[in-house]
Amino acid sequence: MLVNLDAVLKPAREEGYAVGAFNVYSLETISAVYRAALECRAPVIFAFGERYIDVANIKVIASMVRTLALDTDIPMVLHLDHCKDIAVIYRAVTAGFTSVMFDGSQLSFDDNLDGSRRVVEFAHSVGVTVEAELGSVPFDAAGAEVPEEYLTRSDEAARFVQATGIDALAVAVGTAHGEYKGKPKIYHDRLGQIASAVPLPLVLHGGSGIPDEDVVKAIGAGIAKINVNTQISSAAVKCMKEITGREKPGALPDIMKEVEDAMMSEVKGFIRLFLANKSM
Ligand SMILES: [Zn+2]
Repeated sequence: MLVNLDAVLKPAREEGYAVGAFNVYSLETISAVYRAALECRAPVIFAFGERYIDVANIKVIASMVRTLALDTDIPMVLHLDHCKDIAVIYRAVTAGFTSVMFDGSQLSFDDNLDGSRRVVEFAHSVGVTVEAELGSVPFDAAGAEVPEEYLTRSDEAARFVQATGIDALAVAVGTAHGEYKGKPKIYHDRLGQIASAVPLPLVLHGGSGIPDEDVVKAIGAGIAKINVNTQISSAAVKCMKEITGREKPGALPDIMKEVEDAMMSEVKGFIRLFLANKSM
C-alpha cells in the first residue's frame, strides 16, 4: 500500500515506535528494504535523495517502488530525501512520490520558513506530505559531539511548525550523517523540550551507529522517523569485498543477490530496533 508520511508517522508518534527511512538508489537497495518490510510486517519509508539523481533515474525509482508497494497491504512511503531545489520537488511529485523533504537547514530561519511554506502549499494540494529541518544535522560526522549552536531550539521549532504547516520535523539533537568517530552525544534534554513544544512526528537523521539505548530513548521522547543509510551501505560494501576476495566470486547476478541479502538483514535489524514490527 502506497501512503504518505502522515499515514505511518502519526500512529508511530502516538504509540511510541519509529518508522525507518532507508536510502534507495537501485533495484537491489529497493528490494532489500521491501523484503525486510514484508518479513517484519512493518511500514517502511523508501528515501531517494536529491543527491542520487545522477545515480539513478528518479522516474524509474518511483516506478519500481510504486509497483512493489501497490502489491502489498503493508504501508510504504516513497519519500524524496534532503532536497534543496524546489524544481526537483516538483519532478518527484510528478513522478509519483508521496512525500518530500525540503532541506532549508542551511538557510536563515526566515528563508527556511518561507521555502518550507511554499513547498507545503504545493505538496498538500496534491496529498503529498512534507518534512523540513530546523537546526542542522552535520554531513561530515567529524567528531562524536555536535556543537550546541547546531541544535534545534524548541521555541523556534514551535513557531516554524505553526507557520509552515509541515507534517514532520527533522531535528538536530546531536546526530550526524556518515560514520561517527566515537560514541555520539545525543542531547536528550533538548529533544524532550522540542517534543513538548511540537506535537508533530519528529525525525532523526544520521541513524547509523547510535547506541541502541539512545535510539530507544529518543523514540520514547517523540522521534517517529529515523533515517538510516551509512550502516546499510557499509554492510553492502563489506559483503562485496568478501565476495570478490573469494577464489571464485561467481557471476554478477549471484553477487548482487548476496549483497541484497546482506542489506536486507541490516534493514531488518533496524526495523526491529525501532519497534516498527509492533505496529501491524
Ligand atoms: Zn539526513
